[in-house]
Amino acid sequence: MTDPQAPAPAVDGLVVLGATGSVGRQTLDVATRLGIPIRGLAARRPSAGLLELAGAHPDAALVVAGGSGSERSDFEQVAGRPVSFGTDAVAAMAAIPGSIVMNGIVGSAGLSSTLAALYAGNVLGLANKESLVAGGALVTKALARGGTLVPVDSEHSALHQLLAGRPQPDIDSLILTASGGPFRGRRLEELDDVTPEQALKHPTWHMGGRITIDSATLVNKGLEVLEAHVLFAIDMDHIEVVVHPQSLVHALVRMADGAMLAHIGHTDMRVPIQYALTYPNRAASGLEPFDLVGRTLDFEAPDHETFPALALAYRAGREGGAIPAIYNAADEVAVAAFFQGRLGFNAIPMIIEATMTELAGAEAATLDEVLAIDAQARTVAASMVAGVC
Ligand code: MG
Repeated sequence: MTDPQAPAPAVDGLVVLGATGSVGRQTLDVATRLGIPIRGLAARRPSAGLLELAGAHPDAALVVAGGSGSERSDFEQVAGRPVSFGTDAVAAMAAIPGSIVMNGIVGSAGLSSTLAALYAGNVLGLANKESLVAGGALVTKALARGGTLVPVDSEHSALHQLLAGRPQPDIDSLILTASGGPFRGRRLEELDDVTPEQALKHPTWHMGGRITIDSATLVNKGLEVLEAHVLFAIDMDHIEVVVHPQSLVHALVRMADGAMLAHIGHTDMRVPIQYALTYPNRAASGLEPFDLVGRTLDFEAPDHETFPALALAYRAGREGGAIPAIYNAADEVAVAAFFQGRLGFNAIPMIIEATMTELAGAEAATLDEVLAIDAQARTVAASMVAGVC
């Protein structure tokens, strides 16, 4: 784990990967307010959204990972300045020395940039789940060489703040809170026929497509348990999940002496984003002071019968090797099929479990091997989906 007592690294500017996404845009808002120079913007595709950001940040270098040849030349012409293209250019931008790198890339494509940022000794604000879930061992190895990782997911940011460099023997367990999603309190058989529209109604956080479905199945919490396992080097038996519908307590730490520390605050991603950008310092956020008066905090145990995907994440973490990567990849395929109306809601965890079982014992030691097992898991999951349909 990163030592929170370390002195503030010298930083010349911010690089935002996944700049047009939700985390990317909020990062740019926060950085602009804090006066942090924007040094680079990277996005998956050439788009009007990226052009707009390029116009707002005229000194930022531009990188686009994908796009056809003609889309690329059109984009460069309209942008009116040189643009670098390709996934290697994204990783190269993450490695510009003296940068804070916000990795808001969605999917396993984010892993190579995470590693590039850390090997360059940069400060990495990490919002890319796959880096830790699929590439946990690689990230741990990179961190041992240098660089600073500050998690941006609200629960892990809360844990990073609560742990604050405390020695491991002081800590009994980490507790992640879960809102329970839109189907909290429902029984398994009631969820057979739910639609993507129903699943997209998240009660407290406003997010994108897959993550909202993952919140409804509790896969998102499963991924977060796997992330915490890597990030804080805590074994799976000492990571707990508690359902907390108000989402005001973001995480807790159970100390060895029985004391519980809780992180409470706004359900606003700009708070953990700002923490990553200012770490190890703090700055005013301009948010209204959080008022506890009149608030009620409820806690309940997760319903493992209705939401079996959470227990599957614990199984993935205990089996280790490439199984967490397979859990993630199979879920992505199953959620896509659910969106297409090809797969029922309750079949999502079934696809994950079947894929994990099919590829039991899989290992991945290098970036190429991680990407290969990720691709293989997608193929297996897709054939499982085809078998169910
Ligand atoms: Mg979260």
